[in-house]
Amino acid sequence: MNAVIKNQDFKQPAYERLGNLALAMPMPEKEANSDELQKALRLSGILQTTLDVSKLIEIFAHEIIKLISYDSISYTQPEHGIEQTIGQAATHSLTYRLVVSGESLGELVISRAKKFTKVEATLIETLLCGLVYPLRNALMYQKAIEAAHKDPLTGINNRASMDEVIDREVNLSSRHKTQLSLLAIDIDHFKKINDGYGHATGDCVIKAVAEAAKDAIRSSDMVFRYGGEEFLILLSNTDRDGATLLAERLREKIEQTCIICDGTHVSATVSIGITCLQENDDSRTELFSRADAALYQAKSSGRNCCKFFSDQS
Ligand code: GH3
Ligand code: MG
Ligand code: MG
Repeated sequence: MNAVIKNQDFKQPAYERLGNLALAMPMPEKEANSDELQKALRLSGILQTTLDVSKLIEIFAHEIIKLISYDSISYTQPEHGIEQTIGQAATHSLTYRLVVSGESLGELVISRAKKFTKVEATLIETLLCGLVYPLRNALMYQKAIEAAHKDPLTGINNRASMDEVIDREVNLSSRHKTQLSLLAIDIDHFKKINDGYGHATGDCVIKAVAEAAKDAIRSSDMVFRYGGEEFLILLSNTDRDGATLLAERLREKIEQTCIICDGTHVSATVSIGITCLQENDDSRTELFSRADAALYQAKSSGRNCCKFFSDQS
């Protein structure tokens, strides 16, 4: 197992191939001494106490400042959407691309006002060896957690994720007296799509509806695949008017979209039930059942329409 660290101080890139980090790390410029390796091993032990990536970088920064002075450390990992900076960036920097067994772990930049010496760079590289394996474990853990909350077909949040989020959002809205709206969306006559075009086309339609829902919302809103062809959208700080407007826009967009699945053009419509959190709601159950009842009413009204729960009374 190899770790590759690319070190770049200004325009002088150098690649360093490191051996098994648990044993030793040969350096091109200078052999790491056993004292430095002890430091890396000790650091690695400390870093193994967490699987939280951001905490890991914080601990790394906190530990290495005892050994080397710096002004800032920043870590970026675009695949996981991580951008973390500790301290204030300064003029001189060393950039390391962290790779283990061909897998990119992201980029780490360490900077300060005074230029780093070769000896210091060697020490940093040795210390990075204490970081890469705990970092890889933390990233793998984060990926597994994310996968457990995602629906594999559409890539949007799944039911388990909704169950975790909804209580928190209901509590927050009740406490801060803010509006919270819920949309329940169901594809109309989806059985006919499956029966007429096949299951793969049905899947493609589900994906297209999920995309349209994702595009319709703001970054603070959340969309979930709640069942086969059922979706929920949770709209924070959104009242009845805002929720109805969004629902109608989404319904219209889906109606007007020509979905192309493997060369076949398919059209679909959705029915949407809308409700808002009410003051006397004790839990998510009331919110869910009102959204469901409103959806049922949209279906009974001929489908391809949106209904707000109180419309029924
Ligand atoms: P309605 O307008 O009343 O909602 O009618 P419908 O046909 O959409 O409703 P129904 O709930 O009877 O049918 C949903 C169908 O969705 C049944 C099920 O086989 C299918 N389904 C569930 N999950 C998936 C999936 O992941 N992919 C595909 N292709 N079909 C699915
Ligand atoms: Mg359904
Ligand atoms: Mg349906």
